Amino acid sequence: MLPEPIKNLVDQLAQLPSIGPRQAIRLAFHIKNRGDSAVEQLASSIAGLAKLKTCPSCFLVHESGNSAGLCHICDNPQRDPKLVAVVEKETDLISLERTQRYGGRYLILGELKKDGSLSIEQKARLASIKDAEEIILGISPTTFGDLNVAFINQELKNSAKKITRLGRGLPTGGEIEFADDETLGSALENRN
Ligand SMILES: [Zn+2]
Repeated sequence: MLPEPIKNLVDQLAQLPSIGPRQAIRLAFHIKNRGDSAVEQLASSIAGLAKLKTCPSCFLVHESGNSAGLCHICDNPQRDPKLVAVVEKETDLISLERTQRYGGRYLILGELKKDGSLSIEQKARLASIKDAEEIILGISPTTFGDLNVAFINQELKNSAKKITRLGRGLPTGGEIEFADDETLGSALENRN
C-alpha cells in the first residue's frame, strides 16, 4: 500500500533509536513533501557520512586524520596518553571537550545495553587500554549506567593504576550529554 521508495525509507528510519514504525511512515512522507531539492540535500548529507573515518584508537568518528587514521585528539602530543576517559557515545566526548578542563585521551564504547553486559566489540575496545595511570569512567549516573560500570570495571581490572568515576555532582539519573559545562567541569575535577 505504501509506494516502494517510501517503504524502503520507512524500513531504514524505523531502525533508528526512538523511531517507531508509525513515526517512520510520518517522517518519510514529511521528507518527500518538503520538495525534491530538500530530498536531494538530505540524501547527499547522509551519503557524506560514508566518507568519515573512525579513529582506530578512541573510535571517534572524524573527517580527516593523520596517516594512521588517528583523530585530532589521539594525534595531539599535548594530550596525556596515560589518562583515558571511557565514554559511551560521541556526544559525551563532545560534552567533556566543551568543558576545556580535560587533557587526556578517550575511548568510545558505543551504545551500552540496559542489562549492563558488554558486547565482544566493547570488551575488545576496553582491552586496548594498557598501562594507564588513570581511567575515568565517564558513564552517565543512571541506573543502568551503574550496572554498566560494574561490568566495565571487571574488564579494566589490570589496565590502570587507578579507576575513577565521573558523576559525583551530576544529577542522579542525569545524562552526561545534557549536563551543562560548569556541572560537568566540576564533576570532572571532583571525580573519585
Ligand atoms: Zn582518536
